Parts: sequence; C-alpha cells; structure tokens
Amino acid sequence: MAGLANTSTAEIQARDARHHWHPFSDMAALNAAGSRVVTAAEGWTLTDSEGHQVLDGMSGLWNVAVGYGRREIVDAVAEALTTLSYTNTFFQCTHPAAAAYAEAIAGLLPGHLNRIFFTSSGSEANDTAFRAARTYWDLKGKPEKKRFIARRNGYHGSTVLGASLGGMAPMHGQSGLPIEGISHIDQPYWFGDGRLLGMSPAEYGHFAAERLAVEIDRLGADTVAAFIGEPIQGAGGVVIPPDTYWPRIAEICAERDILLVADEVICGFGRTGAMWGFETFGFSPDIVTMAKAMTSGYIPCGGVAFSDEVAATLETGGEFFHGYTASGHPAACAAGLANLAIIDRERLVERVATDIGPYLAARWASLGDHPLVGETRMRGLIGAFELVRDKAALERFPADIAAGTRCRDLSVRNGLVMRAVGDTMVIAPPLVISHEAADLIVARARKTLDDLHAALT
Ligand code: PLP
Repeated sequence: MAGLANTSTAEIQARDARHHWHPFSDMAALNAAGSRVVTAAEGWTLTDSEGHQVLDGMSGLWNVAVGYGRREIVDAVAEALTTLSYTNTFFQCTHPAAAAYAEAIAGLLPGHLNRIFFTSSGSEANDTAFRAARTYWDLKGKPEKKRFIARRNGYHGSTVLGASLGGMAPMHGQSGLPIEGISHIDQPYWFGDGRLLGMSPAEYGHFAAERLAVEIDRLGADTVAAFIGEPIQGAGGVVIPPDTYWPRIAEICAERDILLVADEVICGFGRTGAMWGFETFGFSPDIVTMAKAMTSGYIPCGGVAFSDEVAATLETGGEFFHGYTASGHPAACAAGLANLAIIDRERLVERVATDIGPYLAARWASLGDHPLVGETRMRGLIGAFELVRDKAALERFPADIAAGTRCRDLSVRNGLVMRAVGDTMVIAPPLVISHEAADLIVARARKTLDDLHAALT
C-alpha cells in the first residue's frame, strides 16, 4: 500500500480507533484491544503488520474461493478499469463484460434460470429478490401474496430487509426489526434440536420441513409470496440439513404456490461440492441470490437469477423500478469472468466433491474424539464442530464461559482463522487449499482444542 508501508502497527491502530467504525463489532472492546492489522495475503495465508502468518480457514468472509493474490483476476480488473472505468446498466445500456458475465452465470445454472440481475452485495441481491417476488405476484393478479417466510438464525444480509429476512435475534433487537410481512420458522439444526427430539436425521428433515407447511397454512397461502433459505445456513453455525429436508421444502412450496428463493451467497460457486447448494440438496428454486464467491471477493459483486417464468411475468409489468449504481460494474464483471475461468480451469467444484472436500472431511471428523467436541460435520468445504463441556451428555458450556469466543481467539494465536457462532466453531477454507494446508487446519484446530481444554479444566 503506497505511502503506508512504513506506518507502525500502533499508528494504524490509533488511526483506526479514532475514525473507523467496524461492521459487527463492539467498538469500545475492539479499540481497547486494538485491531488486528492485516497487510497482505497469498493463497490461503494472511500476514499481519507484525509479520505473523495465519491460515485463513474462513476464506475471508466465506468469499475468497480461488484464494488470495490471483494475478489473472487482478490483471482482468486493471484492464477493465483502464478501458472502461465505469458505465451504468440502466437506461438501455450494457457493456461487453456485463453481457458475457450474465451469460456465463446462466450457463452454470439449470435450464430454467436464465436471467441475471447484478447487484454489489448479497444484501442487495436479497432485497432485489424480495421486490421481484412481490412484483411477480402483483403481475399475476395476486397482490395479497406479499409475505416472506425465512428461518431463525438464517442470515440474509445487513440492510433493513436483509436483517429482517435473517433470523438473527441480536440484529432484530436493534432498530426495531423485522419489518412487517416477514415470519421465521425454526432452522433444521440436528445437533441443537432434532437430536433432542429423539428423531433420526431423516425423520427430523421431514419434521423440520413441515414447519414451513404449518406456517404457510397459519398465514394463508394466498398471503405468502416466497420462502427464502440458505441451502446450508452459514452464519447461523453451518447448519447442514438432513437430506430429506430440502426436497420436502420444495414440495411444500410447489403444493401451495409459493416461490422458492435459494440464498446461495455462501453455498454458490462450489462451496458444497456442487456448483450450487440447491444441487447438493436436490431441489429447484425459482429465484437464486448470489454474491461472495462470484468474484472471490476481489471486487464487490452480487446477483439474482430469475426463472424464465418469473422473468417473463416481470416483463409483462414494463419497467421494474429497481437498480443500483454499481449493478454490473465493469470491474466486478471482469473479476467475475476471471474468477469463473479459474474455477473452470482448475476444476474446483469437482475437486471439492471428490478430492480436497472428502480429504478434509475425513480429518475434520477425527476431531470428534476430542473431549470438548460433541459433533463434527462437513459438506464440501464448509464445516463445523460443536463445543461441549460434557461429551457423554453432550452438555454445553454455560454462556458466560464464552467457550466459542475463547476458542476462536486461541485458534488465531495457533495460526488458524476459525469463526465462532456461539459454541459452534466454523470453517470454510478456500476451494484451492492444498492437502498439506488441510492437514494444518486440523492440526491447529486440535491444538486449539487442547489449549481450550487446559484453560477450562
Ligand atoms: N446471504 C448470506 C447467506 C450471507 O452469508 C450473507 C453475508 O454473509 C449475505 C446474504 C449478505 O451478503 P453481503 O454481506 O454481501 O451483503
């Protein structure tokens, strides 16, 4: 970073503390501790301002699918900005990269999903899906179909609508959310719910899906526009539903004439071992929202894919009064095309399904013998383990112990970024990690568990 190379860690932290308000942070606590200053990244390794190196087990915020420092994305962005630093995609305009990128994404989707609307983020993508679904039903002559059903602990973004669709109680507790017209059903969380109900995972998948039928029937199907869900809930703690869950959800939506929106912001582009999470779980959505790995985070980008039926219906309404200044930004489209070229050339989706995914999953499962681990789970390259105080009874630590947060901090000290969701520890490493890096993830996670065990017993 030109001009900043000789700035000390203390100076950066002081400047940061004075002027930078961080997302999802307790600013008083953060400034008391001092921010961790990341200065460089390559492959799957982050370097901080003190020269420490950490393996990024979270791919940034689940987004850096092809790893850090990929020259061809950087070059594609530089070339795009040099040629066409900006043009809009409103008012009958387009540019070559926007057309090519929309075509490329449509080519990765099933045959009925052909039209891509560009946004700059996942939150904006979900806002777009919400407005499109409501407009769709208006145009179908059913304007009373306005409600969305989502899930507790789901995460759909941080705008007013994204936070409302999401089912995060702490987010709802601030600023009077959710907005009207959105309700939430319980998540299909085997470890936290199904196991306690004494059901097999297959039975539980059906049971959890029926909650949607009950909620639609309670509200009246003629008032419900859509159900939205992440194939695997990420920020909610990598909740991997039983295989019986999604096919039944799709049936319930079809039976009751409800649009099905798959939020693929985390799962899309290979994370689960298929291009899309809905392919991994065997269902077919009407609307797909995406972001993150679209560009592996090099340039912000999001998007929404509409089914032919949704797109054709929206077309009957004339202008759809919706768009963002950066929709289809030339740099984002160029980054996206270069990113897709890497995913394709390096066969990353197949690699996750048949090579590095099963390799890491087997080693991750070996953590299940640790006295603090109640369950391990992984699908593709997204996984978690559950911290427990009593392994035999699968009993959690009291909340005031903050076992997950302590585990996360120890993990960074041991050279591995893991994320804590309560006492669920989460990883989602870049799709390109080597087998040696996978071994390191597991070795560092085990060392972290040992350190936590020593600290808590
Ligand atoms: N949907 C899901 C599943 C996400 O995980 C996220 C972000 O983490 C979003 C939507 C929101 O995306 P963004 O932060 O780009 O607005």
